[in-house]
Amino acid sequence: MAETERETGQADEPFYLPVAREVEVFERCHAEQLAVMLKGPTGCGKTRFVEHMAWRLGRPLMTVACHDDLSASDLIGRYLIHHEGTVWHDGPLSRAVRAGAICYLDEVVEARQDTVVVLHSLTDHRRSLPIDKTGEILHAPPGFMLVISYNPGYQRMLKDLKPSTRQRFVALEFDFPAPELEARIVIREGGVSHADAVALVALAQRLRALGDRGLTEVPSTRLLVAAARLARAGIALPEACMAALVRPLSDDPALLGAMRDLVDASF
Ligand code: ADP
Repeated sequence: MAETERETGQADEPFYLPVAREVEVFERCHAEQLAVMLKGPTGCGKTRFVEHMAWRLGRPLMTVACHDDLSASDLIGRYLIHHEGTVWHDGPLSRAVRAGAICYLDEVVEARQDTVVVLHSLTDHRRSLPIDKTGEILHAPPGFMLVISYNPGYQRMLKDLKPSTRQRFVALEFDFPAPELEARIVIREGGVSHADAVALVALAQRLRALGDRGLTEVPSTRLLVAAARLARAGIALPEACMAALVRPLSDDPALLGAMRDLVDASF
């Protein structure tokens, strides 16, 4: 299986702390056979949410990390040459349709437009996937669901979803959780004390405010969890914050200096 694809069927509940009514809305979308778009910045819990929902709904999850080389054949499948001749190999989308799985296309705007178009017939009343090369038409069973994620801030000028694609999805909006929820996530995922988690979240809030001063990428919940894990592993909190929260975000000396000042003022 290519590195960009992942098939999971989790026995244990993936930890996900709901921030609004997203669990209920997603469940209704699954029941109503509606495709869903998760909008929001990177590292704010979209992937974890889908993992949790797949577990909750008892469906296998097929995850595809989209990139600008991703072709329709990468999703649908292709003939491969074997010693006994050419053999058809389903791509992750075809496998997901056959299995009634949840198919999660992460960062879908990265994929080429002609690739995204193959999703269309799965997102309307047809709920089918024609495989032109074999002449087969796959009909999605009720359990199948298509989920895409999309970061509206990222490369908005360069890439966007076509309106004809957007209008096929119910959109759920994600953002960084409120401070008290984010602290609970940091405690649970990062294994730090309540006081350290609160301090980390407060620092993240101040760093995120630098978004107005030219910081294009602000620290995500994922980076906060990484800083907490470093601290739990014995790295002093200020050093953990520099390594996990500050340096990944910018190479600009002025911004790095401003962020270092905020770290120093926090601990
Ligand atoms: P995204 O897919 O939006 O880039 P992820 O789902 O990978 O982000 O989230 C990054 C990390 O942040 C997760 O691995 C998890 O540790 C944590 N996280 C963020 N939001 C939540 C949440 N609501 N509940 C539990 N964990 C969360």
